[in-house]
Amino acid sequence: MSSLRLHIFVRRFLGLLALFFCFAAPHLRGQSVHRLNSSRLVVNALQLDPDPPQSNQPRAPTRGETDQYRLSRERYDKAVSYSRAGYTLYFISYFLSAVVLLLILRLGVAARFRGIAEAASDRKWIQCLVFVPLLLLLTDLFELPVRVYWHALSLRYQQSIQHWGSWIVDWAKEEVLSIGLAGLLVFVLTFAMRRSPRRWWFYFWLAALPILLFFFFISPWFIDPLFNHFEPLAKEHPQLVTSIGRLTQRAGVPIPGDRMFLMRASEKTNAINAYVTGIGASKRVVIWDTAIQKTSADETLFILGHELGHYVLGHIAIGFSFFALALLLALYVMFRALHWSLQRWGAEWKIHGPEDLAAIAVLFLWLEILSFISSPIANGFSRMQEHAADVYGLEVIHGLVPNSEEVAAHGFQVLGELDLADPNPPPFITFWLYSHPPLAERLVFAHAYDPWSKDEPPKYVK
Ligand SMILES: [Zn+2]
Repeated sequence: MSSLRLHIFVRRFLGLLALFFCFAAPHLRGQSVHRLNSSRLVVNALQLDPDPPQSNQPRAPTRGETDQYRLSRERYDKAVSYSRAGYTLYFISYFLSAVVLLLILRLGVAARFRGIAEAASDRKWIQCLVFVPLLLLLTDLFELPVRVYWHALSLRYQQSIQHWGSWIVDWAKEEVLSIGLAGLLVFVLTFAMRRSPRRWWFYFWLAALPILLFFFFISPWFIDPLFNHFEPLAKEHPQLVTSIGRLTQRAGVPIPGDRMFLMRASEKTNAINAYVTGIGASKRVVIWDTAIQKTSADETLFILGHELGHYVLGHIAIGFSFFALALLLALYVMFRALHWSLQRWGAEWKIHGPEDLAAIAVLFLWLEILSFISSPIANGFSRMQEHAADVYGLEVIHGLVPNSEEVAAHGFQVLGELDLADPNPPPFITFWLYSHPPLAERLVFAHAYDPWSKDEPPKYVK
């Protein structure tokens, strides 16, 4: 729902990309970064602000009121400094990961890890089981200070309320999951490389897609519950499920109530959010309990309308196709880049050839570089989908909620205040790392969107 949210970043098509990146490559758990601006809550906007806009007092807005994203002076300064710190850490994090991998290669650490793995066993899968955790743990330890700093900042700006013990436990769980998935993928990759030295990039792609799809498919059941508590939305909010039923009926695409879940985000954050995840039988809409607590009932419906847009417009399937193509291209580039790098520096890095396990560190380095330079494309694609979901959300609540454009605009206002959304991000930053259009733009668009009075046909919900 809101700008630069890890959740959405991680869950939708980028979901898979990020999942892959999160789990397979080093800084991946790149949450550090993408989580950056995503963070959570403001425990007490009322205490912090001399003149807080009524974020904690949901009320029925009147039309025409919320025509711009406005913040009190204090909140404005906080939003700007918090966001800027996030942007800086984003770039530092990528840079740091690349430098660490380069050092691991140049200092012969990758070659030494390969030596340890080969001494442990002749079996290739055991060698992977030794090499991958060593490499990932080392790179992640170097990245840990950035993540610690970001969490400290989130606590200072009262975006997160997660205490350090719980945060470290989450970090450890992510490590185990990511190392497990990366170990599996690296095993498949090295198998493909031995079998087909010239075409492994294609065979690995064929094999990796179902594996990633499988992880994405099971994640709502087995991975997400490791980090947060979920329950059916109908359990405590049956009236919301009924209202949503009315919304989706109107759109002609009813979504069964058992596809809607509540996430107890308030255990860790006060930020508000919702997202769509899963695929096939695990496809679902998830809303954070904080969103229900901090927005009015109508604003909650708009947030859900936006998420239904992702669901109904098939954004996950489209996103996955986009990701699959990007992955194929990336693997081909990595294949060429690996050969080029080893020709130039293979001897210096003590790597015997592409089939050498130590070459995985070279691939990770290229993955890092490619994921960085492809960010603007992936985020541009994501911003288009987010805008479409905004339009869908506006259309689907129109006529069912009084003053629907104002409701949506005010919903954005609340979201921005709580999450310290940057009121005026530099265009380059939006271009490079915003997965959503800037909040101020979304608010203005929502406020002005009115095809009905101009006799124009609505785009998605006729
Ligand atoms: Zn969205």
